[in-house]
Amino acid sequence: MDLYTLHKAHVLTPWSAQAALNPPLIVRGEGAYLVDQEGKRYLDLTSGLVAVNLGHGHPRVVRAIQEQAQTLCYAPPSFFHDKRALLARRLSELSPWPEGARVFFTPSGTEANEDALKMVRTLTGRFKVLAAYRSFHGSTHGSSALTGENRRFAAEPAVPGALHFFAPYPYRSPFYTLDPKEEVARALDHLERVLLHEDPARVAAIFLEPVVGSNGVIVYPEGYLEGVRRIADRYGILLVFDEVMTGFGRTGAPFAAQRLGVLPDLITFAKGVTSAYVPLGGVLVREGLARRFDQEVLWAGHTYSGHPLAVAAGLAAVEAYLEEGLFERGRLLESWLKEGLGALWQKHPFIGEVRGLGAFFALELVKDRSTKEPLSPWHAPLSPAMQGLVRALLREGVYVMAKHNILIIAPPLTLKEAELEAGLAALDRALRGLE
Ligand code: PLP
Repeated sequence: MDLYTLHKAHVLTPWSAQAALNPPLIVRGEGAYLVDQEGKRYLDLTSGLVAVNLGHGHPRVVRAIQEQAQTLCYAPPSFFHDKRALLARRLSELSPWPEGARVFFTPSGTEANEDALKMVRTLTGRFKVLAAYRSFHGSTHGSSALTGENRRFAAEPAVPGALHFFAPYPYRSPFYTLDPKEEVARALDHLERVLLHEDPARVAAIFLEPVVGSNGVIVYPEGYLEGVRRIADRYGILLVFDEVMTGFGRTGAPFAAQRLGVLPDLITFAKGVTSAYVPLGGVLVREGLARRFDQEVLWAGHTYSGHPLAVAAGLAAVEAYLEEGLFERGRLLESWLKEGLGALWQKHPFIGEVRGLGAFFALELVKDRSTKEPLSPWHAPLSPAMQGLVRALLREGVYVMAKHNILIIAPPLTLKEAELEAGLAALDRALRGLE
């Protein structure tokens, strides 16, 4: 049996629009490229799931993992461990708070959000939590409850446990007016109404992705996140930024909080912390708040929280980001992407919008720019045109991430200009095939 058939026969693959397109069987990664079993190379314009920010095979991270495996392969989270302490100090230095932060390590981003849920309830003594529609926070029960994702087409049961509010999606804002300031004011008014309806004194936290990631790279209009911060402060509610996708250089700063200039109280992270070489996530809690855990019991933790191989990889990855100036390099990629994708927008009328920040962009395909009508109904997992586009790009040797009518481009921060140009030229050809 060939490997492809073997995979199909034995591996239960999570539902994903793209898995249905029979993606290639990958056996190797080299920098920004993936290599399949026939030796064909694919330029990965998505860094895996927006995770492999350093590209594959970064020697510093590879060496750190090898050395750690030879030194100590496991230490329970309740033990003290050298690399855990060193990485936590580094993350505190990189955090957006002048006072610094403490870190609670988890095995993944999902568990970071699960544990952040427990933390905000412990810290406030309140139970209710609010999260934005179109957010994605993970797939366990607590994190799915936070996830206000439009996934019902996949028959995923709605998980109770969190209340949702509409955040502005400027391209098709439910708060649309011609004046962006008025639009922000309407969105904030909606949030406050939801809070008042639920009794703000019973709400522990508001969870948000500062830039919505897998649901279409939505950059909130100016003033919105600042307004959410003000509302949270007004009612003593904690603000949690889920930076699982936006952290570690993706938006051109260590965290989007810094790029956007809004300070949450907690930040959840994963993916980029180790450049996805080893699973690791965590919660950054600003120092003033974290101190309260000296008295409170924090009932959370997992066998693999802060696993030695993961924290060693994290420490090496963070040193690589710093030494190679990769936290800032996202801004350079932003200028290339804006120009390159902007040129595609000029050429192809069914690209409704190009939007993004740092090395994190999306193209939204529409039937008609003037009406913004989606290329296919919003509940469709992947529009036929998008399926065609993804297939054409795979033939071209370019790997992208797509959902509904939205194509996400989030290359490794180490991507070279010529590599991006080649990828965008392939995208141009694939888009021409749709006409
Ligand atoms: N939060 C966000 C914003 C994400 O994008 C993801 C994963 O894509 C998660 C949480 C879940 O993280 P993980 O897959 O590491 O559990």
